[in-house]
Amino acid sequence: MCKFAKEESVPEHLIPASRRFLFLPLLILFSSSVAAQLPGNLIRQYEVTRIEKILSADDMQGRQVYTPGIEKAAAFISREFKSAGLEPLPGSQDYRQHFTMINTKLTEVRVTLDGQSLDPERIFAFSAAPDLLVTQHSHYHKVFVKKGDDFGEVFYKYMDESQDFLILVDTSFSKRFMRYAHIHMPSFKESGNRIFILTSSNPAQFSIHIKQDTIKKSLTNLVGVLPGISLKNEYVIFSAHYDHLGIGKPDAQGDSIYNGANDDASGTTAVITLAKYFSKLKNNERTLIFAAFTAEEIGEFGSAYFSKQLDPDKVMAMLNIEMIGMESKWGKNSAYITGYHKTDMAAILEKNLKGSKFKFYPDPYPDQQLFFRSDNATLAKLGVPAHTISTSKMDSEQFYHTQKDELETLDMKNMTEIIRAIALSAGSIIAGQDTVQRVKP
Ligand SMILES: [Zn+2]
Repeated sequence: MCKFAKEESVPEHLIPASRRFLFLPLLILFSSSVAAQLPGNLIRQYEVTRIEKILSADDMQGRQVYTPGIEKAAAFISREFKSAGLEPLPGSQDYRQHFTMINTKLTEVRVTLDGQSLDPERIFAFSAAPDLLVTQHSHYHKVFVKKGDDFGEVFYKYMDESQDFLILVDTSFSKRFMRYAHIHMPSFKESGNRIFILTSSNPAQFSIHIKQDTIKKSLTNLVGVLPGISLKNEYVIFSAHYDHLGIGKPDAQGDSIYNGANDDASGTTAVITLAKYFSKLKNNERTLIFAAFTAEEIGEFGSAYFSKQLDPDKVMAMLNIEMIGMESKWGKNSAYITGYHKTDMAAILEKNLKGSKFKFYPDPYPDQQLFFRSDNATLAKLGVPAHTISTSKMDSEQFYHTQKDELETLDMKNMTEIIRAIALSAGSIIAGQDTVQRVKP
């Protein structure tokens, strides 16, 4: 008893988080009125606001890929990682993780299915190849999207694949097919080819010839590491994307900059803040990896590349943070977790928040496929318990992807509470006390 009394007299921020977790259940036994405290002293609203303000400022020009604006953001995140005392990934000189994308522009398409030529409108492909010829003798996996299937799910599932696929989409999806056909998407140098054809037949003989102009472009993730004390080969990842939509046409007020304060400067701010928080505590038994991804807005390429550089078996958990600047649909002090029931991560996070004012909910927008639409998706597909935490009201977020997604529209107090809740709730996972179930295939 006196041991706990002594601990209680120590200011909360001086007690390592893992020890606070150990004491918590005992304290609750002694007094039911003792509530879990979010880590207030080491995560301050003014610091959260400082970071958010810089990332969403007009001079970052909307942080669009391949622009000076995103370079400026990358330099800022690097400085913050350095001041947090993070290490680069093993084998890297700094926090920058470079990779190459191939942008393409279609110049020629010729397709015949069982001897009949196909309207070029009824085919689109994701491929890095300048000249692609595919026939029934090519070793392509055939995938069928039949009437009544979930075409959206298939589309996202094969968005990033290292093998070659021929995806035959039933003509009942013609409207959606045309929409997807206009999605301009680059490919990794290493990607497989994915060819989508709108047809209700299953051709025995076919010839698909595609020519396209290709341009190589370089992109950069920022990755920093806080090595674990005893479980160095067990990783817990905190991540968010730092890219956004750049500069567009001016709105009625003459504003042309898509600041992306909520999407996803808020998540990036959380990642930097958590890096500084855990770096000060320095009691993480597992290795923590902090990642700011590029190219989410054009197809989640940054996270896909990052994820493939890791051994998925070593990744114990990924907490991706996306759009936490607004109140969730349940109001303040709450957020939702995508794929809530796919693992027991949410239950563990919830357990660690017991007695606090904060609550996590299941993703209320299952139709939107958020679990497979965010930067957690690549690792989740490999079985890693990788979830996204968000407050975004996907059905009614009025500033989503507009020039009005600015700092002034965010609730910085609530956002700070969310970051505190993430810090507290992940404690037992970081300490190696809880291991989250894998995602079932
Ligand atoms: Zn976005």
